[in-house]
Amino acid sequence: MSLRFFNTLTQQVEEFTPLEGQTVRMYTCGPTVWNYAHIGNLRTFTFVDILRRWLRCRGYRLDHVMNITDVDDRIIKQAIEAGQSIEDYTAAYTKAFLEDTATLRLERPERLPAATAHIPAMARLIAGLRDKGCTYESEGSIYFSIAAFPAYGKLSHADFSGIRLGTRVDSDRYEKADARDFALWKAPKPGEPFWETEVGPGRPGWHIECSAMAMHYLGETLDIHAGGVDLVFPHHENEIAQSEALTGKPFARFWLHSEHLILESQTMSKTLGNFITLRDVLAEGYSPEALRYLMASVPYRKKLNFTFDSLKAAGTAIERLRNFKLRLETARFPEGASEFLLARAGDALKRFEESMDDDLNTAEALAAVFEFVREANSAMDAGDFHAGNIAPASDLLARFDAVFDVLRPGEKAAGITDVEVEALITERAQARKARDFARADAIRRRLFEQDVILEDTKDGARWKRK
Ligand SMILES: [Zn+2]
Repeated sequence: MSLRFFNTLTQQVEEFTPLEGQTVRMYTCGPTVWNYAHIGNLRTFTFVDILRRWLRCRGYRLDHVMNITDVDDRIIKQAIEAGQSIEDYTAAYTKAFLEDTATLRLERPERLPAATAHIPAMARLIAGLRDKGCTYESEGSIYFSIAAFPAYGKLSHADFSGIRLGTRVDSDRYEKADARDFALWKAPKPGEPFWETEVGPGRPGWHIECSAMAMHYLGETLDIHAGGVDLVFPHHENEIAQSEALTGKPFARFWLHSEHLILESQTMSKTLGNFITLRDVLAEGYSPEALRYLMASVPYRKKLNFTFDSLKAAGTAIERLRNFKLRLETARFPEGASEFLLARAGDALKRFEESMDDDLNTAEALAAVFEFVREANSAMDAGDFHAGNIAPASDLLARFDAVFDVLRPGEKAAGITDVEVEALITERAQARKARDFARADAIRRRLFEQDVILEDTKDGARWKRK
């Protein structure tokens, strides 16, 4: 089967291939750097990371652009309140964002343009729309006239035929019920930053920013445009309207949207005040890998109900896989190969890949891996796992980790839990009993790396933290 994605535009699962050659030209909406990203935001960025990695596993190269929104209503308000320039204010949160995403092992997109570095490109686009008669001015601001784009609503599949044309909205964020002509360019206000451009002084609206940077780097038709489901309306709808009204070409072939992360049955939101940051999660003693795994394990089009219990379970799942990898690398197995396990490893790899191809069904892909690990562990216990079974099992883990990237321990790991230490000590005792000293030593080394010191006594091993 081929690689397929659910396309929000057509509401169908469609086979994906890039328009030209083997390079996927992709645009994803980046952070507005007015505050720390919360884990609801990070779920979207994790989805994008999984998407990137799977496209590469399927042999594609990426040209991926993600914008940094470093000027908008909230930034201006906050910077003024903090008595800082918007450059200083946003620099700190841009840095925090890059740190957080690196901690979560999210790959850097090929390009990370800042909005304020592309103001002339935005003005150019607005001038083009003005020349085509798609805009009008009011008090120094320039608005996009929805009447100029009859297909308006095709992404969000809403019928906007009843809206009052000619009424307008200045805010960049509004609900479908408030659909109106939107601001492309905002007139300067006293005390606010502005730029002198070919369409006059002012600053860009949020929507034009993405269209301008996407087309500047990737051309008029993108292969994939992705983001959180909350961006479908109005942001992406407006991106389509202004881009396609200008070029007459489809702006993006595939639109992919990830669902919300839910906390205590509410969507996580800074406005609602119910949000958790990565820093909060780490302060509770959880590893970034556990959060990454949890966010990656729920298929992106399903809502993710965040709980600390599920985070704990994610940590346990990672530990199970790491232990299996350690066992593969250090245990001694009899020569030869189990034909049964060779077939099972092949099946698991096939099922993993087919599940990922199926609109990134990560839950199904993980099930394939865990089923095999369970069987292989039982076979190892029974002495039925052979040296010839190591390579296919390692290949499966490698394929898994190329996407999930959780097997490597964290550099700044918050440390392993007492339960995990006890479990490893029990395993080490079993290894010693079986005279598998290489494995026993590997476990001791592993514990030592986690700052756990073992002391063997006649009553068994004692341990303490460094
Ligand atoms: Zn955007």
